[in-house]
Amino acid sequence: MSNEIKVLLASAEVFPFAKVGGLADVAGSLPKPLKQKGVDIRVILPLYDTIDREKFAIEFSGVEFAIAMGEENVGGKLYRGKFPDDDIPAYFIECPKYFGRPGIYTDPDTGEAYPDDGERFVFFSKAVPEALRGLGWTPDVIHANDYQTGLVPAIYKKLMPDAKMAFLFSIHNLAYQGRFEPELLDLIGFGHDEFYPTGAFEFFGKVNLMKIGIVFSDIINTVSPTYAEEIQSSEEFGHGLEGVLRSINDRLFGVLNGIDQTVWNPLTDKDIPYNFSADDLSGKRMCKAALLKQYGLPEDRIDKPLVATISRLADQKGFDLLIPIMKDIVEMDATFVLLGTGQKEYERAFTELAEKYPKNVGVLIGFDNKLAHLIEAGADMFLMPSRYEPCGLNQMYSMAYGTIPIVRKTGGLADTVTPANLATDEGTGFVFEEYSQEAFLAAIRRGLSAYRDKQGWRNLQLRAMAFDSSWENSAEKYIELFKQALASARWGD
Ligand code: ADP
Repeated sequence: MSNEIKVLLASAEVFPFAKVGGLADVAGSLPKPLKQKGVDIRVILPLYDTIDREKFAIEFSGVEFAIAMGEENVGGKLYRGKFPDDDIPAYFIECPKYFGRPGIYTDPDTGEAYPDDGERFVFFSKAVPEALRGLGWTPDVIHANDYQTGLVPAIYKKLMPDAKMAFLFSIHNLAYQGRFEPELLDLIGFGHDEFYPTGAFEFFGKVNLMKIGIVFSDIINTVSPTYAEEIQSSEEFGHGLEGVLRSINDRLFGVLNGIDQTVWNPLTDKDIPYNFSADDLSGKRMCKAALLKQYGLPEDRIDKPLVATISRLADQKGFDLLIPIMKDIVEMDATFVLLGTGQKEYERAFTELAEKYPKNVGVLIGFDNKLAHLIEAGADMFLMPSRYEPCGLNQMYSMAYGTIPIVRKTGGLADTVTPANLATDEGTGFVFEEYSQEAFLAAIRRGLSAYRDKQGWRNLQLRAMAFDSSWENSAEKYIELFKQALASARWGD
């Protein structure tokens, strides 16, 4: 079979239409190399209120449908648009009841997840076959992503066994499994007869949409080779699904994410005030000055090391290691900037640190894509002390911008950042293993001390910038997985 394979990528987030985290970046960037390699790739996502219909020329397709959600019929409409700068089709499911809100998963006013997230993504998953029927387009493979679309393979296999499609399921973060009360099965349209321990639909008394995605898909992958191992190894990484994953391990793969080099490239980036490349890093210094200014930090800190982070403020990301050592970072005369939003206790802690150390610490609570680019461009080092990290994208963005990552050796961080050794001219970042403040602080100290060696630092930056994080290899691997899914699909299971 050639690459002329038809694939629908279903995801709750797709950049640039709707983004919360890395899932959006992957769902928005993987289609481009797939298309270049001959795949007929299209994407589908919910039409959230936050999506700018005018900017993306999103129009009603004429397809309408009603989805049975238990006793109620809920109407939906199919819209279509295109990726900017590309003609990859993007389909959108409109439903004011579920998606006409100011947030994607969480209510921005409270920071809490919407209580009906289960129902919302059951609706979206059930709308996928309706949309395809309305379009008259049948993909060979549906590529579902994370729990929000975990039901799609099961809906086809159980309710439409004649549909000859194969299913690839990608796990972007196993911690978010979509665990809901068993009543959700009524909304899906599945009976409770299969709701028994060890069955696909039961997980410690709940329905688990991630588990359903894993069990019903032909091929499963996650976003780095190390994370693929880790999630089978223990409860800590598997979050209760480690046994299920071990049981399907012959069809579980790890494929490292790439980055979209049309979006994250310091030479062409339109979101930064000065472009630069490995040949001439002077623009990076000017971006650093602009970054200090934007955070209201003193101009004369330009020659001090600037460490940064951009993150969802969630337990996963290791803030319990960072917050207590902030005073050490300040004492070492480094500057620190943070951009993030999430758990209120972290937002508060960082806001207080910025008040306490106004000359050294800048904090912006919020989501700001343009500022994220300026931080990657202007910072010297980027902190990712994650407890676990399925792949992580920021360390790759950082390396591309000559910003040296300081990371914990886990998941995709372990697969992408190699420990720096200035004496032997090796490595691209600073890596620590044990999840402790001491180990993290020691890695930061190594980074700050290396920063003083101007030539050694520059060589380190050049090695980081030369790191290949393109989608090239990984897109080929995805095509292999699509083919493997097709080869192993058992129609009508
Ligand atoms: P995760 O998917 O776990 O959030 P990743 O490192 O894989 O982590 O991807 C995070 C993506 O989201 C990056 O592109 C990062 O720049 C972006 N991001 C996270 N928080 C913010 C924020 N507050 N403002 C802008 N971009 C953000």
